[in-house]
Amino acid sequence: VKYDLHQSWFKELFSKEKSYVKAVDGVDFTIHKGEILTLVGESGSGKTTTGKAILQLLDNVEGDIEFNGTSLPTKEKKVLKGFRQDAQMIYQDPYQSLNPKDRVFDIVAEPLVVNKMARSEQEKEEKVKTALESSGLKPAEKYLAKYPHELSGGQRQRVAIAAALILNPKLIIADEPVSMLDMSVRSDILRVLIQLRDHKDISYLFITHDLSLAWLISDRIAIMYLGKIVEVGSYDKIMNASLHPYTKALINVMPRLEVKKKREKRLTLTGETPDPSNVPSGCRFHPRCPFAQEKCKQSEPSIRDFGDGHHVACHFVEELKEEVS
Ligand code: SF4
Repeated sequence: VKYDLHQSWFKELFSKEKSYVKAVDGVDFTIHKGEILTLVGESGSGKTTTGKAILQLLDNVEGDIEFNGTSLPTKEKKVLKGFRQDAQMIYQDPYQSLNPKDRVFDIVAEPLVVNKMARSEQEKEEKVKTALESSGLKPAEKYLAKYPHELSGGQRQRVAIAAALILNPKLIIADEPVSMLDMSVRSDILRVLIQLRDHKDISYLFITHDLSLAWLISDRIAIMYLGKIVEVGSYDKIMNASLHPYTKALINVMPRLEVKKKREKRLTLTGETPDPSNVPSGCRFHPRCPFAQEKCKQSEPSIRDFGDGHHVACHFVEELKEEVS
């Protein structure tokens, strides 16, 4: 079974004093069943907005989503309720995403209670224990009566994962799920997410500013810049054969040596990301792109297909192919 998540042409307007910010603009992609698609971009690129828009958590959004045969947005409450059970979010900050006054059992059981999906107390307890153990908290009994402040950061994030898992979701949007954790537990949490994908066929939209994490977890990678996807492709295409100057610059600052890099003419990223309320004309990357030409300032590049699911938004892909690594 394949399902598509197709987010086309949606715009979010954030009030910023008297102006508006189009946080995400014309984003279009697909996530397949059991796939981890990583959305990578600097702060303010629109990654989190994209995740929240998919989950129908924002107003002022235009666009369409096809989810497992269901079209969204919808006014049908039953369809929306089903989608909200099938699509869950894990947030960046496990310290804030858990209610400090609730015990672990109640935190993980809450989605079951809200959705009336446990027929008895015994079934509820069994489901909570299974979710906790799937997220790596074993034996589950040891954690049921604890409060969030009694747990480590990694354990708290595992509780958040268990609460996301308890309704058997088909899609999890993981928004920087390890960025606030110690380096020592990051790989453990990533391993849990990968195991869940392998065993339960869960699809992920994994959101991160860190391409090194994408290197560890992704099947496919989409690179975002100022509210647009500028390149999307398989792990191999992005890591070893990227075509967009922005992607190449991100890869060149990655610490991972295994990523193929040519030593000569390495592209480095200079300058700050422009203010989203004042998006540059033409190609949004042109003020920071060493290859920008007059056309780049005037005309916005459309995203083009370079084969095998590799799509790039740059006017001069062909000319730049051999230019830089
Ligand atoms: Fe650089 Fe122009 Fe390509 Fe944009 S369109 S990435 S400015 S070369």
